[in-house]
Amino acid sequence: MNSITAKAPSSTANLGPGFDVFGLALDAFYDTVTLTRQKNGISIITGDSIPVSPSKNTAGLVVQYMKKKFKIKSGIQIKIKKGVPAGFGMGSSAASAAATAIAFDRLFGLKLDGNTLVECAGVGERASAGSIHYDNVSASVLGGFVIVRTKPLDVLKVLPPSDLRLVVAVPKMVVPAKKTQVSRSVVPKQIALADSVVNLSNAAAIVAGFVSKDSELIGRSIQDIIVEPARAHLIPGFNSVKKNALRAGALGVTISGAGPSVISFATKKANLAKISSAMKKGFASAKTDCTVVICKPSGGAKTI
Ligand code: ADP
Repeated sequence: MNSITAKAPSSTANLGPGFDVFGLALDAFYDTVTLTRQKNGISIITGDSIPVSPSKNTAGLVVQYMKKKFKIKSGIQIKIKKGVPAGFGMGSSAASAAATAIAFDRLFGLKLDGNTLVECAGVGERASAGSIHYDNVSASVLGGFVIVRTKPLDVLKVLPPSDLRLVVAVPKMVVPAKKTQVSRSVVPKQIALADSVVNLSNAAAIVAGFVSKDSELIGRSIQDIIVEPARAHLIPGFNSVKKNALRAGALGVTISGAGPSVISFATKKANLAKISSAMKKGFASAKTDCTVVICKPSGGAKTI
């Protein structure tokens, strides 16, 4: 085989109280990556505005790492078609990394297990976040709802309930180049034990909701009293977006990953169009336009 193409989904990280631990693959946007053997080196081709230097692109870092780890001599050309908007908390850099890890595995017949694929894709996150976080890449590689444990890396996947629906509002705004670093810098370094108890109880209920396929339990447990309040000011109109969506029938609303996208959790019974326009109005109250997508959870990255 000389060439292979894989696609990987967008994802939302944290789901409120599961900071750096939870991820959910979203059937909203996809990145497509084609790897082709070439004589020497690693080159990146893309029409999208992302870095083309392999050491600054998440896909390039994954190929560098996997070439070394699995002693692959061949040069590799990486063609990237972005579908996931970059820098909006939709796991854009992770989707490129996930598609690349899957494509590399298939191109060289490595037959890697899930944890190893996640480890390889996670290396790419250094290019965007400056450090390795596995929440988005785990969801994008494996699909569904994921719980990330590190030291050693051990990712658990749970299939989401079939009636779970998400409404994601992606604001049209200029995101700072170092957005993830900025939004991490406002998170408190120390927290009160009582606050951690509240967040832990909600996180545990979210896991119970996924395991028992109870979308209402998931939705009403999307409550974070630690990270969300510290980050809300970075998102124009966040409080109105949240209040409006809850009034329109969303079960839970929070920041998607490091933001600025906002995600509502609901079931297919809800009036999803009403939640969409409520979120749009919330952003409009802060003079910000947004794109709203209604979606379901997604399966993981796969070759096409
Ligand atoms: P997201 O929430 O979309 O993952 P990040 O802030 O973590 O946002 O990552 C986006 C940053 O990563 C941008 O600055 C972008 O230039 C950089 N980046 C590097 N490689 C890629 C890639 N292949 N796809 C998207 N963004 C990339």
